[in-house]
Amino acid sequence: PALPERTLEGNRYMLPNGHSLMVFRDISRLLQLEQVRRDFVANVSHELRSPLTVVSGFIETLQDTPGCGNDEALGYLQLMAQQTARMQDLVDDLLTLARLEAGAPPQPGEAVCPAGLVEQTLSAMQEQVQSKQLRLSTDLDRALCLQAHSLDITSIVRNLIENAVKYTPAGERIHVVWRRQGEEAVFIVEDTGEGIPPEHLHRLTERFYRVDKGRSRASGGTGLGLSIVKHAAARYDGRLELESAPGRGSRFSVHFPAQRLGQA
Ligand code: ADP
Repeated sequence: PALPERTLEGNRYMLPNGHSLMVFRDISRLLQLEQVRRDFVANVSHELRSPLTVVSGFIETLQDTPGCGNDEALGYLQLMAQQTARMQDLVDDLLTLARLEAGAPPQPGEAVCPAGLVEQTLSAMQEQVQSKQLRLSTDLDRALCLQAHSLDITSIVRNLIENAVKYTPAGERIHVVWRRQGEEAVFIVEDTGEGIPPEHLHRLTERFYRVDKGRSRASGGTGLGLSIVKHAAARYDGRLELESAPGRGSRFSVHFPAQRLGQA
């Protein structure tokens, strides 16, 4: 009978006598378990979506019903509405991540121009930007587009800009760039915000990893943003690079190879 398909992972070691030793490990079972985990998270998230929609719908109905409660009750309703919205964000991010982790790069995609997505994101966040008096600047190549799926590129643009706005204190600067750089196209979000201590940098793209848990939750973060950015970039052979200096600011850049560029 045909052997089931196996996945092997190999390492090569050089021996002092000049020979080399290859060691292979069968990781088929590991990959299978990983797939079970991914499916489980996707199914649970999907199942949570409908009840959450019902709960938030009834909270809104109660809020809009005249004489439905005193100030205390209305305060509780407000709190319930906020927490339900947080759960909905979390479920949406988990589903996005499950979709991205499912692999298989989407074919053939469409021409997606990040410059327009940056402008949409910035205008949706105008209120927060103004209330914090952040100084925004952009350097966007409008003619530079990617052959991709718009949901994926929107996730990258939105998560990096939202983070910069969240983690940059009032009066500081945010600079967003989309341009060619040698053979690549690069999307950069730079801020003069609080920065990230070096010991956290290598773990930032892990699911639910946060530098300051309390602050991140308070600012409405799900802890999945950078993980989503990393997976969305990888789908197009892109890579996420981070540089940061505590107290001076951070620079997140996503590099896409030339073969992913497309005509608008
Ligand atoms: P969250 O939803 O918590 O923002 P992310 O995955 O988007 O989750 O980010 C992970 C963590 O990285 C954040 O909790 C925050 O501590 C840190 N971080 C992300 N972007 C920035 C930034 N521009 N400046 C400082 N810290 C940042």
